Amino acid sequence: MKTFSHCQSCQGLLEIVYVGQESHPACPQTESEKLAHQFVEAIQRDDIPEMKRLEALLDAPRPEPKLGSSALWYAKHAKWPVFPLLPGQKVPATKHGFRDATRDPELIRRWWTEEPLRNIGIPTGPETFDCIDVDGKPGYDSLVQLEKDNHIPDVHGRVSTPRGIHLLIKGTTEGNRVNVRPGIDLRSALGYIVAAPSIVNGKRYSWTIQPSPEIYGKAP
Ligand SMILES: [Zn+2]
Repeated sequence: MKTFSHCQSCQGLLEIVYVGQESHPACPQTESEKLAHQFVEAIQRDDIPEMKRLEALLDAPRPEPKLGSSALWYAKHAKWPVFPLLPGQKVPATKHGFRDATRDPELIRRWWTEEPLRNIGIPTGPETFDCIDVDGKPGYDSLVQLEKDNHIPDVHGRVSTPRGIHLLIKGTTEGNRVNVRPGIDLRSALGYIVAAPSIVNGKRYSWTIQPSPEIYGKAP
């Protein structure tokens, strides 16, 4: 399985070859890459005070993204339409659900001003991306098998979810398919996903690999 993201320096397509990679080898490193690099050097020369100092910096909590501003970011930069879900839930907050999705910043602002704790829904399919939704231990087991059989297409973004992971792949018109394998659903045309940084059952969705240019920023 190949995994792609975007380079945080030049914004171009970036194949991820090691955990935590954020930029091309030839592009300037990001701050967190620099810290990780210094940390490895400190380990190599057994410099314990320096290791502790860098570890604290690497583990420092980052400010939690707000739902409303994330929804606006998706619409503006990723060009993905969004719609609101009920706070703490996967259920649409508007009457027509994913059919109400929009990239109109005014409407998005209004939705999240009315209720700032609304979760974010993004319709899946050709306009955005498809999503391999891996749920729990059965899902992880199925994923290992699918990888072995070479059935996983290139991945263009990865999100940790309350019970598993979302692997984002290029959008298709295939349509939703539930339980393609135990613990694995495919979200596609006429489906939607709950997007980061939504919270369900007290647990947050969060990006572990940022989306690649193959799936974001494409719509005119
Ligand atoms: Zn680059």
